[in-house]
Formats: sequence, structure tokens, C-alpha cells
Amino acid sequence: MNLLWDPWHASPEAAVRRGQAARLQQFLRDTVLPFSARYQKIFRERGLTAEDIASPDDLAKLPFTSKADLISPPEQPDRFREFIVVPDEKVLARRPGTIWSALWRGRAAVKKRFEAEFRPVFMTFTTGRSAEPVPFLYTGQDLAVLAAAGKRVMEVCGARREDRLLNAFPYAPHLAFWLTHYAGTEFGAMMFSSGGGKVMGTDGTLRLIKKLRPDDLIGIPTFLYHVLSQAVAEKVRCENLRNIVLGGEKVSDGLREKLRELAAELGAPGVNVLATYGFTEAKMAFAECPFAAGRESAGYHLYPDLGIVEIVDPKTGEPVASGHPGEIVFTPLMARGTVVLRYRTGDCVDGGLTYEPCPYCGRTVPRLVGRISRSSEVKEMNLDKLKGTLVDFNELEHVLDDAPHVGAWQLELRKTNDDPLERDEIILHVQKIDGGDEKQLSRDLSERCYRIADVHPNKILFHDLGQMQELQGVGTQIKEQRLVDHRPKVK
Ligand SMILES: [Zn+2]
Repeated sequence: MNLLWDPWHASPEAAVRRGQAARLQQFLRDTVLPFSARYQKIFRERGLTAEDIASPDDLAKLPFTSKADLISPPEQPDRFREFIVVPDEKVLARRPGTIWSALWRGRAAVKKRFEAEFRPVFMTFTTGRSAEPVPFLYTGQDLAVLAAAGKRVMEVCGARREDRLLNAFPYAPHLAFWLTHYAGTEFGAMMFSSGGGKVMGTDGTLRLIKKLRPDDLIGIPTFLYHVLSQAVAEKVRCENLRNIVLGGEKVSDGLREKLRELAAELGAPGVNVLATYGFTEAKMAFAECPFAAGRESAGYHLYPDLGIVEIVDPKTGEPVASGHPGEIVFTPLMARGTVVLRYRTGDCVDGGLTYEPCPYCGRTVPRLVGRISRSSEVKEMNLDKLKGTLVDFNELEHVLDDAPHVGAWQLELRKTNDDPLERDEIILHVQKIDGGDEKQLSRDLSERCYRIADVHPNKILFHDLGQMQELQGVGTQIKEQRLVDHRPKVK
């Protein structure tokens, strides 16, 4: 079966939309409606059939699926199973295609093919801080799609087959690590996985860098920042480093600049610092193509043959026009295993979706342009209301990443005297870089936080790199922590 468009990145907009319409209808008719308990019910309740969804625009007839829909409530601990596509052998056996294949290739071959298509063999989990992790099941076909999507990340980032790649994502049942693993395998480059801070630590990762001198470094921004800072402190050289590819957290311009500067000190000026955007529910991630320092990113290059991205008004849920900001909604086109239609990510992109050819690489795929704010994380931690004001933590993160003389940082929430009924306190922990006066920097930071996010930190504390690593849990936490909530709960 031909799963992918070849080439995937060179069709004009009209052809992309036509191809997506055909795929969407086939996917609903042959896979989702016959075999997904959840969507059978939804279509039935609304009196819809696959024929009613004849184009990507018709998706608006379907309700969204949100994170809350996926979490199993105590009275229904297996809710995630409703989203798994479970084929009915009798239905498959009656299909003309099945009968033909059986005649041509034999029954055993047909059985094997269906197993590869439908039998779950792998899973990852969602990564929320407080919510119960939700399993996402993959079949053999899903793994093939994961590998293809991963290979495209490599292509878009401009990796080369002769490159050596260091995958520094935490070794965990999460998308980022496994996408990178399969990407390297499919792309055919030499790749080694360090397992991130918790498995090998900063020192171990640094030893690997010294020994293997990677061309491409892939991982979580906060962790890579620590590794490269330490590398600079130890006067390590890595002149052949070409790409730093980031995932798992959003990436601000300030952090990009700091990573570029660190790479330059390792003897690799002009490194590309590229972000990726992915989420468990999509079972894939999308990348930026290289662009010169000082230019704007062209955004995340989507795979129109593998999924449909809609941008909707976060308040009304109505689709918005191309180029308008809104929330990212995803529908897969080739998924098996766990299948979620119109998944509402909770992430907003401020430049929306564009179909214009990419100004840098020329690919004609749709792109997500501008800054992506992950609102979900903030909501999970109940941070949106703090000290009596609505705090925009997305803004605050950008303010701190962009601040001069600030390396790593962490925001800690406490209560005055650790009394749950007392007022909220924000403590900002900062690693000061390239000199500067602490008092002056404190004043600047406080002023910046107030101007952008309407909140003054109660205290600003300075630390060296080692202390910051300890605070952020480098080497002890799966993912380094930039926001910690130490407020005691009311009993
Ligand atoms: Zn591009």
C-alpha cells in the first residue's frame, strides 16, 4: 500500500486540498466508521456518514475531541480504548480488495498485512504534569508513518546522511525520544541516543559529544542549554556542529540566540537552531527549515498526506481564514491504533496557517507560522491566576529567555511562610551570564516582568550553573523544570 505522497512537499495548494479530501473520506469510510467505537457513536448521534465529510472544510461538522475527552474518569478507567480502531474480521473479509488479495497472494499473506495494519505493537503516553498519562497505541503501519514523519523532520532541518546525530531526548515512553529514534533509523544517519539528563547526566552527555563529535544535536532546549554551557566552561571543541534541533518545549528567539552563541564558543559559528512542534495525539512532529540568524522562521512544515491541520478561534471554535491566529486542531489521515479526530491541542499559533511556498526551502506544504503558545501546561498547573492577577506565563517565559545576562532560570511558586491560606509568592531563580551587576540585573528583570506580564517577582535569587542544574533537576527529572509549584495545598 502506498502510504505517502511522493514527493510529499511539492504539490500546489489545490492538489493538496483535493488529495486530502479523497484521503479523509476514504479514512472515515474504510477505517474510522467501521472500526472506532467512539466515532461510530458520534456520527450516529449527529446523523452523519462518511459521505457528509467530503472535504477538509466539512470537518467543521464534527465535534472537537479535547484532552479532557481522552482522560479516563474513575468510573470508566478504560475510556482510552474507545479511541482504538479495532477491525471486525468479517467486515474486512467481505471487502472486494481483500478477496482479490487472497486470490492473488494467498490467505496467509492477507492476514499478515492486516496484522501489520491493525494490531497495536507499541505505545507512547501523554506527558502532562498533573493529569493521568493517556496511552496512544501504534500499529505496524503507525510505526512506518512515524518513521516517515521523522525522516521528514531530518530532511526539513537539512540533516545529511553522513551526519552523526546525538538524540538527547529523555529516554521515556514519550513521542520526542521515539520519533527521533525512528527518524535516525529511517533517514540512515549514524545516531546515538544518550537518554537525556536523567540517564547519562550532563557529564555523560558531554563525554559523548567529545568522543563522537555530533553534527546534529537533538533534545529539550533547557537540557541542551546546560550541556552546551558546561561544554563551554570545560573548553570543549565541536567545530562540526551544524544543527541544534529542539523539541518538547517552545523555543524563544532569546534562547535560540543564546544557543547560537554557546555553539560559536565551541568553534561552530553559524549553527542552525531549529524548533520542532509535535504532540502525542498526532503521533508525529513538524520542523522548521534552516534560516539565517536575524531572519524570521518560516514556521513548521506540515505533512498534508498524513494529517489535516485546522486553525480555529479558541473561543468560538469556528475555523479562521489562512494567516489568522488561532488554536491548532489536528486530524490524522493514515492513523491506526489510537485515532482521535479534530484533536484540540490547546496550543495557539499567532501567524496561523499558510499555503504559500516556503520562502527559504521552496516546499509547498502548508506551514504553521509564528509563535506557538502552549496554554495547556499553564492551565494544568493552575498558574493562570496568581497574586490576584491573570499572569500570561507564555509571555513571562519569553521575557526571561530573551533577557540579556540571563542563562538558565526557574520560576518557583510558594506561599508566604508556606501557609496555604497566605498570599502567592513568585521566586525567580537566575543563572547570571557574561558579567553584569546583580543589583542592576535584578532591577531590570523585575521591571521587565512587570511590564510584560504584570507581575513583580517577590525575590530574585542568583545561582551558578551547578546550582541551577540542581534546581531544575538536570540528571534527576525526566524533563528539566522551569516552573515549579511549591505552594502547599489547603487541607
Ligand atoms: Zn522551508
